[in-house]
Amino acid sequence: ALPLIAVCGRPNVGKSTLFNRLTGSRRSIVGDEPGITRDRIYGEIEWQNVKARLVDTGGVVPDDEALIPSEIFRQAQVALQEADAIVMVVDGRTELASPDMELARLLMKGGKPTFLAVNKMDSESMYAAAENFRRLGFKNVLPISAEHGSGIGDLLDEVFAVL
Ligand code: GDP
Ligand code: MG
Repeated sequence: ALPLIAVCGRPNVGKSTLFNRLTGSRRSIVGDEPGITRDRIYGEIEWQNVKARLVDTGGVVPDDEALIPSEIFRQAQVALQEADAIVMVVDGRTELASPDMELARLLMKGGKPTFLAVNKMDSESMYAAAENFRRLGFKNVLPISAEHGSGIGDLLDEVFAVL
């Protein structure tokens, strides 16, 4: 089986935007049924001729804000079990929040390679804000804009290096 990369994080940080950018049209529709909420979405990604699977742990819950914190942690536990590498996404335009700290602690305890993507850094002038998130303790902190595509190549270089 292909190695699996999990995308974790609070609602609204940009997990699905990142997932869609990375998977493009290779998004898995297997098992999609109308009216059924799937809590995780799988897709395929290829980088420098290497293939991997990607999972969006936020899934297609209609209103992501409805995800209660415990659900984020449950998803993180599943990710730790099944994934070979984990990308935690935070919203670089917001303050560091306590769910971020708890999630980061949980993910880093899991012993899998973990990366922090500080999203919504739409211009390089914002990259300094990403530094605040170093306090979460990740070794790898990468400013990205999932919407504009910046920083994505550097993120993928780092992630694929551990697969
Ligand atoms: P999820 O709940 O973590 O899956 O987050 P979504 O991917 O649904 O994105 C939440 C909101 O953040 C949406 O309004 C996106 O358009 C916005 N968003 C995602 N990525 C970026 C980004 O790189 N820059 C900006 N400015 N907004 C973004
Ligand atoms: Mg989502």
